[in-house]
Amino acid sequence: MTLLSVHQIQKTFQSHGGHLAVDKVSFSVEEGACFGLVGESGCGKSTTAAIISSLLAPDSGTVTFLGRSQSKRLKPWGCEMQMIFQNSQSSFDPRDTVIQAVTQGARAYHLYGKNELKERAMDLFSYVGLKESYAQRKVRSLSGGECQRAAIARALMVEPKLLICDEATSALDVLVQAQLMELLMRLKQEKKMAMVFITHDIPLAGAICDELAVMHQGRIVERGKTRDVLDHPKTEPAKALLSAVLTLA
Ligand code: ADP
Ligand code: MG
Repeated sequence: MTLLSVHQIQKTFQSHGGHLAVDKVSFSVEEGACFGLVGESGCGKSTTAAIISSLLAPDSGTVTFLGRSQSKRLKPWGCEMQMIFQNSQSSFDPRDTVIQAVTQGARAYHLYGKNELKERAMDLFSYVGLKESYAQRKVRSLSGGECQRAAIARALMVEPKLLICDEATSALDVLVQAQLMELLMRLKQEKKMAMVFITHDIPLAGAICDELAVMHQGRIVERGKTRDVLDHPKTEPAKALLSAVLTLA
């Protein structure tokens, strides 16, 4: 079943004399699949993510999620779609304890009673690799990697159908990034979580995604099965993203 379908979305920012940030972008994500959106910084990935998540209205085009469509109106999708950003610290209330932060969405949606809430949260602490003893610590005391784990736990608390990860591991050092990627891959395999995985790092996306779309200057310029895009990039932007990595290695 198709979970998410993005049809010809377009967005121009009026600053800088009208900048076309997203230009007729279309793609769809099937249940349980991981779709990668890759491209150099500034190519329109986060704007696309914001439109999909209903944080930003497109100028035109339609987003359909779980059979519901919206275009210019901004109505939150609810708990079925969750986002994880690059810096989750800023999405938490720094005064909250870690357990308050992790249960924040589930409490807002009144999903569970008090005991079940705590039980589920502690199960998720263990699943994402946070120590139980962290529960009563302030969320602002977490390291970058721990914070991303807490954000993943918060998202999973509400049992979403789709996770949008926008540069979710990009601010972390390589070792922590690898641990986080392992967790996301486990999520995909064990929980069959569908994801839109957004990054400027094409090999990283290659590690987890079934399908890749390469964005360049607001457009999707190439799209295909991950292996095909990585092994036989056809367009210059895809080749550049791959060769930049090879040069650095
Ligand atoms: P990416 O996530 O791929 O790095 P973004 O979607 O953040 O790219 O940005 C795409 C383009 O739109 C960039 O040129 C950026 O400067 C511009 N842009 C993004 N958000 C805004 C905004 N709120 N106002 C004006 N320009 C923006
Ligand atoms: Mg971005």
